[in-house]
Amino acid sequence: MNNSEFDLIKKYFTFPVTRDDVLIASGDDCASVSVPDDKQLLITTDTLIAGVHFPEKTSPEDIAYKAIMVNLSDLAAMGATPSWITLAISLPAIDQSWLTAFSQQLHIVLSRFNISLIGGDTTRGPLSITIQAMGLCDKGKVLRRDKARPGDKIYVTGELGDAVVGLHSVLNELDDTALLPCIHRLNRPEARVSFAEQLTDYSVCAIDVSDGLIADLGHILEASQCGASVDLSAIPLSLSVQYFFWNYHNNVIDWPMVLTQGDDYELCFTLDEKNQAAVIALAEQQQLRLSCIGEITESGELLCFDEAQQAIHFSETGFKHF
Ligand SMILES: [Mg+2]
Repeated sequence: MNNSEFDLIKKYFTFPVTRDDVLIASGDDCASVSVPDDKQLLITTDTLIAGVHFPEKTSPEDIAYKAIMVNLSDLAAMGATPSWITLAISLPAIDQSWLTAFSQQLHIVLSRFNISLIGGDTTRGPLSITIQAMGLCDKGKVLRRDKARPGDKIYVTGELGDAVVGLHSVLNELDDTALLPCIHRLNRPEARVSFAEQLTDYSVCAIDVSDGLIADLGHILEASQCGASVDLSAIPLSLSVQYFFWNYHNNVIDWPMVLTQGDDYELCFTLDEKNQAAVIALAEQQQLRLSCIGEITESGELLCFDEAQQAIHFSETGFKHF
């Protein structure tokens, strides 16, 4: 990459730093930030590749939005408040209008959460975006996968399945306006940041649903060495998803599609019974749908029951990364 290209990139990815905990941002070999004594630093990274994580024709705005949100969702999964990101971007060519749109949308999301972009790297290659996000959580209040206990109730935020229905709609060119909300959810997931920040007062165990509920709840069960019983009739489905199955699937819900494909970016967490009322009130206050979908058991198995109390088995458990 020659100097003019380098300057171009620098122009698009140097935003004003608004946080006073950023000691050194761009312009040196490393960035430097300060972490308060009573906080714990959480770090996560996610790569989005064109054709793998989003359809090739996805708009630069949607790519920017999703690239940052999937990282914020991982921070939310552990109860952290997002603070800083770094960005590594690989581009097939310098396309000024693409870069303008991408960088403006990125800046909008970063401003909304008061996150500073503190460094990054650019290379020429197939379109790929890697964001590393860092966040802060009160010491000892981090939500973890290995803290579920038998008897805990299992909750999910929002609704599941919209993104996969949206992807199906895009890939099969269904061209049905009733499914536009699903496409919107696919492109513009909403990390549950503010809910997660407050959830740390009541829960100790959470994960974000990025690879499908079965796989992600499975990670909690494996780490916590317990099982779960899930009531499929309690799984929250949007009206658009219900419409999709009614109209395109003989009114039969395809549970493997809803629960093993991913991209939901909702939170799945466990609660001791005594904390349920407080968390339900918190969700109501934030106007966030919250559903109790089952209970942690000692069995070591994840059992899902349909309305007729029949156990449903899932052969594919989630999005496969390789
Ligand atoms: Mg995650």
